[in-house]
Amino acid sequence: MWQAVSLLLVVGIVNAKPGIFGEHFDASLFASAPVLPAPTFFKEPIFAPAPIVASAPIIKTIAPAPIIKAVAPLPIVKAVAPATSYATVTQFHVTHPVVKLYICLYMFYIDNTVKGVGNPLVIKNARIVCTSEECLRSAANLKLSMDFNADPCDDFYQYVCGNWKQEHINHGWYSRFSSFETINERIAVSTMDFLKSNSTKGEPLPVTQSRDLYKSCMDVGKSRNSSPLPRYTFSLIVLFTIVISFPLSPFTFKKYVDKKTTRRKRVKLELDEEELFESAYKRVVVTVMKAIISNVTKVPSEKVLVEASNIIWNITDDISELAGDDDDEFDEDFDDLDVRTIKASELQNLTDFLMKENNLKPKEVWKTYFNMLFQDIENVTLDLDGKDLIRYLPNDLDYINSIVVYLAKKRSIYLELYAWYHTVYSMIVSTTTEISEYIYKESAPFKKNSILRSRSMDCADLVIEFMGIAVSYGIADKSFLTVTKPKVDEMLINIKDAFVQRVKTLKWMDEKTKNATLEKSEEMVSFIGFPEWLLNKSALEYYYAGITIANDTFLENMLSIIEQYTPYRLANLREINPRTWRTDPTTVNAYNYFGDNSINVPMAILSFPIYHLGLEVLNYGAIGSVLGHELTHGFDNTGRKFDKYGNYIQWWSNDTIETFEKKTECFVAQYENFSLPNINATVNGKMTLGENLADNGGLHHAFLAYKNYQNLHGTEPQLPGFEKFNDEQIFFIAFGSIWCESRSDESLKSQLKHDEHCPNPIRVAGTLQNSDDFSKAFNCSMGSKMNPKKNKCRIW
Ligand SMILES: [Zn+2]
Repeated sequence: MWQAVSLLLVVGIVNAKPGIFGEHFDASLFASAPVLPAPTFFKEPIFAPAPIVASAPIIKTIAPAPIIKAVAPLPIVKAVAPATSYATVTQFHVTHPVVKLYICLYMFYIDNTVKGVGNPLVIKNARIVCTSEECLRSAANLKLSMDFNADPCDDFYQYVCGNWKQEHINHGWYSRFSSFETINERIAVSTMDFLKSNSTKGEPLPVTQSRDLYKSCMDVGKSRNSSPLPRYTFSLIVLFTIVISFPLSPFTFKKYVDKKTTRRKRVKLELDEEELFESAYKRVVVTVMKAIISNVTKVPSEKVLVEASNIIWNITDDISELAGDDDDEFDEDFDDLDVRTIKASELQNLTDFLMKENNLKPKEVWKTYFNMLFQDIENVTLDLDGKDLIRYLPNDLDYINSIVVYLAKKRSIYLELYAWYHTVYSMIVSTTTEISEYIYKESAPFKKNSILRSRSMDCADLVIEFMGIAVSYGIADKSFLTVTKPKVDEMLINIKDAFVQRVKTLKWMDEKTKNATLEKSEEMVSFIGFPEWLLNKSALEYYYAGITIANDTFLENMLSIIEQYTPYRLANLREINPRTWRTDPTTVNAYNYFGDNSINVPMAILSFPIYHLGLEVLNYGAIGSVLGHELTHGFDNTGRKFDKYGNYIQWWSNDTIETFEKKTECFVAQYENFSLPNINATVNGKMTLGENLADNGGLHHAFLAYKNYQNLHGTEPQLPGFEKFNDEQIFFIAFGSIWCESRSDESLKSQLKHDEHCPNPIRVAGTLQNSDDFSKAFNCSMGSKMNPKKNKCRIW
């Protein structure tokens, strides 16, 4: 509280404009004739006018808004002693404001001295310290995670995240563990608590059903051991959905062996691993077949089962090769926006041609296939000879044609076996604990960095995945829409304003493109938190209408959800896509959907340590940079190809496109310079370009937006324990902190190959190297690692 009082005095001397504290204030009285004996700290140099003016942090505190607030005696008293001793101050009938101030000042002095916290050094920092729960939590989290021995100008990531790992233990459930996963974990735990709790009277049916789904997931062992598996018949589309999306995690028996590497390196150990994988896979096939077949007929001989497992293994392996699953190098020429259309009859002609080339008899396949998919879908009649076209990517066409020829050569009883097995396998993990644990045991040696989580954790995740909206109803903060959302909306508006401010100053864009760009940002819509209807009982019941969930039939529950929703997705074929929510509220991420020109910011990412940090400077540095990132995506190397309505057409002038492309080369070169010597790998600058542009633009816009916010609302209180840091430094620390993570070399290697995001330490370093604001904040000398001499890359 010293800070608050000395602030008043300082401002009184430096900025002695009568009226600034209220009508009757006369600053000159202050300097000349104190009415109370001067306490010791008056001897501090802080009261000499010259150094005060020169000292940066104090000048900042002169911003009018908070001073006016701070002067009012009552709040100060409250802030100093929330409950007891200073309540008496308000009983004095002192009318002269200066006398009032002095009384307050004197009381605070005594208070601090008595409690032994009157450190004279603190006085120099003439600002209130925030002691709210959120501030204390943020301060403790940062303080414990930071490595103050590191040089922020040399390795800012190490400076901010150096001790993060020790403070945030990865329990082994994630191969990478970052701030985002800490939120994920918290959501899983609160979901678990919610799902275990008893139903409340009058709650929406889907909420009760989500609890039942959880119970049935936990109860698989009991319910199945006593009764045989039911017999099922599925439509084609439901069957596909089962194979593709049935909940396998974490029991997926997937190949994690990097074939290419093993072949290339010819290392004995790795080759053995490949063989071990194959035999384990086949053992699982035999066991699963035995378990299922015994329900309906006599189990075939071991020899027949082994033969069947060989056939399934071979077809699975061939198909994954044809699909290019093993080819995990980034293909620079691949353009996933290069979507083309073709008529079913044209596709058929191509297929016929290939069949003849392979000496096979052509067969009508495509129309039959599409008609089968849609046969039970109400209100949709396909017009394959007319307006209905098939969208495809050139790469897909190669695969489709080669798979048709492959399948045509295979015996149909083999194909039936293959399809049957994969459907059964997808479902079997939802049947008994015994079989799922067996599959887990067989697959564990081939999974890197994963441990068996508790069944309850897995079941909670599963319910989040399949009934995310109902779960969100249960765990959402009911005041979100009235308290948090308006604040995030305002922040996003400020960040958009900063973007507009920036675009207006750009020299590399012509006026026409500039206007079109501003229009696109104006048109961009945002979905923050969760859809409002989620809290409405009847809307929620309508959303889940038709599903049947019992608390002891897990497999049937899962099938009910899939059978209800798969046809529903196909029935949307004739509807124009509405601009709406595209993510569940429980997803810890944020997205820009180019086709909608929209940003989705689910409630889950609006959590500590990314939001609710106590001070706006922290919030702007953390979630603000995320919002800026998503906004910038709309104008990155891909987003710029979609206009304000989300159409994939050219809407920039050729000249501007050319300049833009040229400017992106700076980023490609900068990021390709980053290497990770530990794993002997470098960053792919082209693959990560879009994300890097978004990171860079996002940080700039968030920073500018924060400065605008600060100008408007004045300086905030300080973060406890961080009094020696200025606001700009705190902003960048908050930015860096959201990227703290721990991860294995294995997962880093895979990220560098497949992920469009750079590893987090590089995201932090790359972005800050381009930020003059950062170098200024930390006074990084030109030529230091974080402030390199070469040209800084900047587009947005
Ligand atoms: Zn992104």
